[in-house]
Amino acid sequence: MERTLIVETIKKTGEIVHVCGWVNSLREHGRVVFLDLRDWTGLVQVVFPAESLDYEKAKRLTTESTVGILGLVQERPEKTENPNLATGKIEVLAENLEVFSKAQPLPFDVKSDGREISEEKRLQYRYLDLRRERLKNNFILRHQIINFLRAFLTQEGFVEIETPILTKSTPEGARDYIVPSRLQKGKFYALPQSPQQYKQLLQVAGMERYFQVARCLRDEDPRADRQPEFTQLDMELSFVEREDVMALNERLLIETVKKVTPQKKIQEVPFPRISFQEAMSKYKTDRPDLRRDKNDPDLLAFCWVIDFPFFEKNKEGAWTFTHNPFSAPQPEHLEWLMNKERIGEIITTQYDIVLNGFEIGGGSIRNHKAEALKKVFEILGRPEEEIKTNFGHMLEAFSYGCPPHGGIAWGLDRLVALLLKEESIREVIAFPKTGDGRDLMMDVPSEVSSEQLKELGIKIVGKEDEKQKR
Ligand code: ASP
Repeated sequence: MERTLIVETIKKTGEIVHVCGWVNSLREHGRVVFLDLRDWTGLVQVVFPAESLDYEKAKRLTTESTVGILGLVQERPEKTENPNLATGKIEVLAENLEVFSKAQPLPFDVKSDGREISEEKRLQYRYLDLRRERLKNNFILRHQIINFLRAFLTQEGFVEIETPILTKSTPEGARDYIVPSRLQKGKFYALPQSPQQYKQLLQVAGMERYFQVARCLRDEDPRADRQPEFTQLDMELSFVEREDVMALNERLLIETVKKVTPQKKIQEVPFPRISFQEAMSKYKTDRPDLRRDKNDPDLLAFCWVIDFPFFEKNKEGAWTFTHNPFSAPQPEHLEWLMNKERIGEIITTQYDIVLNGFEIGGGSIRNHKAEALKKVFEILGRPEEEIKTNFGHMLEAFSYGCPPHGGIAWGLDRLVALLLKEESIREVIAFPKTGDGRDLMMDVPSEVSSEQLKELGIKIVGKEDEKQKR
């Protein structure tokens, strides 16, 4: 018989239904077994009176087992209705019980919000942790946000295009994850820190409005709320100026909030714009939290931070980029870039979007002229040869007719977490890693077989060997 979702049972009084799910709770009361059955649409009460065929079987069930039940939907006797349950006016009188899989006792409670359980344990048994209502709702909202973003951008003429995961190093200020090549021994791919170069090359290709819900990977030192892999809403547009990208993104953020979390209030529209200088002198940070009432859980204070210096000196006294080496300077500073003068005063076209004190995205207008991009790498002290090997393809691409272009990327995990009032992005990522990059459920990273290493031409230098070398 066709399955009925639990949420639908309320409309089926007088009918026989087949409901499937997990045993949420079990209790016996006056020779009647009451079973709360849960599927991902809700909960319904199932009753097994002592005279019913499967009464004994029901008594031996355990919570969290999976079952299928055939039964008659009937109105609950008066005074036994449960106003806290969407299906609280009815119950299913069981006629047949099929046990799909009996559950042994779980390592923790999945009916609580989970905050009382150690995170290590939760991550080790993530597939159980995800059974809890709070996490289920987090992933439904995450889906609604992504779904809305896709629909909005499609409506605006964007096309979603996937870019490679096995690629070449692209500088985003972190270390690369690298993957050894078996067919080209001794050579490596890098996993993308962002689709930056590909999305720019798509502009050269004439894909004027690109976006992607893109997985990015950065090998950073352990930090409490960073993930080695995370998701960006990445976009790039041709023939645009800074204002165009900012206006579109502002509209998209406002519409997303309205659509997905209508109970939230945006403090100020249009979003205030603050220069980097002003942010630093007034708030001592370039991600100011502008909320007027920090106790209001529904208040969203967006702002743009702009006019960042393009370059800054690193510890060794050499120039490094503050955000993105592919950015263009402000038009009035292009000449300084080309002459490699007043380097510390060059302002970039970078714009960061900040929400309640968190940077949730950033982008810029790019250098679409090869000579200008080359100057950036020269200022960064990259030798000619290295510029050619690492970025020759970009420089060459720009010589075949490149549109002026710009884009942005949002940190989707952070945005979703903020809209859900979750403190950690791990609460909105299905299978997150620990702060030091381990997946406790799969137990990775893990060793690989010596055959695999041999095929790749890789030899592990043991800790002992390392010590000897030093
Ligand atoms: N590639 C940048 C980042 O990942 C975003 C951008 O400039 O579009 O932060």
